[in-house]
Amino acid sequence: MTGKPDQEVDLFVMGAGSGGVRAARVAASHGARVMIAEEYRVGGTCVIRGCVPKKLMVYASRFSDEFEDAAGFGWSVGEPTFHWPTLVGNLAREVTRLEGAYSNTLERFKVALVKSRAVLEDAHTVRLLASGECVRTETVLIATGAWPHFGPKIPGLQHVISSNEVFHLPELPRRIVIQGGGYIAVEFACVFAGLGSEVTLIYRGENILRGFDDEVREHLRNEMHRRGITVICGHTVAAVEKVDDQYITHLSDGSALTVDKVMFAIGRRPNVMGLGLDNLHVKIHEHGGIDVDEYSRTSVPNIYAVGDVTNRVNLTPVAIREGHAFADTVYGGKPTRVDHADVPTAVFTEPEIGVIGLTEAQARTRCRRLDVYKTSFRPMKATLSGRETRSFMKLLVDGNTGRVVGCHLVGPDAGELIQLVGVAVKMGATKADFDATMAVHPTAAEELVTMREPTARYGYEAAE
Ligand code: NDP
Repeated sequence: MTGKPDQEVDLFVMGAGSGGVRAARVAASHGARVMIAEEYRVGGTCVIRGCVPKKLMVYASRFSDEFEDAAGFGWSVGEPTFHWPTLVGNLAREVTRLEGAYSNTLERFKVALVKSRAVLEDAHTVRLLASGECVRTETVLIATGAWPHFGPKIPGLQHVISSNEVFHLPELPRRIVIQGGGYIAVEFACVFAGLGSEVTLIYRGENILRGFDDEVREHLRNEMHRRGITVICGHTVAAVEKVDDQYITHLSDGSALTVDKVMFAIGRRPNVMGLGLDNLHVKIHEHGGIDVDEYSRTSVPNIYAVGDVTNRVNLTPVAIREGHAFADTVYGGKPTRVDHADVPTAVFTEPEIGVIGLTEAQARTRCRRLDVYKTSFRPMKATLSGRETRSFMKLLVDGNTGRVVGCHLVGPDAGELIQLVGVAVKMGATKADFDATMAVHPTAAEELVTMREPTARYGYEAAE
């Protein structure tokens, strides 16, 4: 840098999302002078256009089942109606409230917040594009997240929306095509179906949720089918044509569907462009994220990166942990690595999915002996409501050590359950520990401690 900087700080954080805000706050609490830049809204993907508004939409979408189910319990409910503008208006207010709470936290910890895009001019100099000012900093943390990816250019791609736009649609689409088979696609397929839309999910592979346990994938697909969602596998969207207010979606097999909205949820790409990284030789990993070591340090020693921009495990709690660990390492005198193994996760579909650890396919290759315990049952509430739905649970146990190496749940509150199963799995719990735990009756979770006989065992023949 030449000339005098306009300001000087110890830490400059690029991006005020979950990871950046946590890092800024903790670094400041350790005594660092911190500045954080955000070009859009404080809170990042999770708060502004991800987890939080999505989960609120999930709640909204579940009322339709509740109204129907109530009849079996003696209630009569008038013809329910749904008003989309009320939902999105209330969502927007809640997001604004949370944004304020995030900003207040930064203020409370004396972190300077600048609403601007920030670009690195050299390893210690950041240019704020809004004002043109230069900030000199000892350390830089990049926490710029990721952005929806739209895949190869196809005709009519300009008509396609991503999950970013869902929260601002003027009306509920009566018919929607969603392309993708990952978290976002299946979650929004269930949300829109619950709100009353006719949903078609298009996925390029053999079955949705690649990377999840095969039986979980199958179970969810059946449940989605039961709820009237059309899942088309083995195809992609080849073109989108706008005719008046409708969209003709042409698929790779030559068929076409006419809908009111087309949404792609085909992954997200780390936000690494336009930050000035190229000139600094910050190494980008082949998966597209910033390459970091176990302390989130990049190839440039004073530059760190956390969260989705590093494309490690792209989940909010992971970004928060990484941000916190960075601040403790650099400013708290406590070098901290984040353990990315056995991260529990939930997919907020209907029914919900909660998983931790290995899939059965992975466990079969990694454990010399494997015991599989599984059960599928009708949730208690469905007995009186008459709803056609089933829950699924699977525990994978290392046959040599007895340790539970995987747990896969599909059913009501699976996200809540897996958080607690996660504690046990992280502690190294064995199947015997699960068995020694008294059941809580009547719950669905009691199945986790009452599955006695394995449904399959692998690897025993070889040793015998
Ligand atoms: P995912 O990576 O989960 O899924 C992407 C999907 O799009 C896959 O099914 C993939 O297929 C498919 N795909 C990729 N490229 C193409 C293409 N060119 N044409 C057609 N299909 C394609 O991404 P999402 O967008 O669903 O979510 C992004 C991330 O956000 C997730 O990885 C997750 O970490 C996070 N997230 C977490 C949530 C939660 O915790 N509940 C909720 C929402 C998001 P294939 O499988 O064949 O590669």
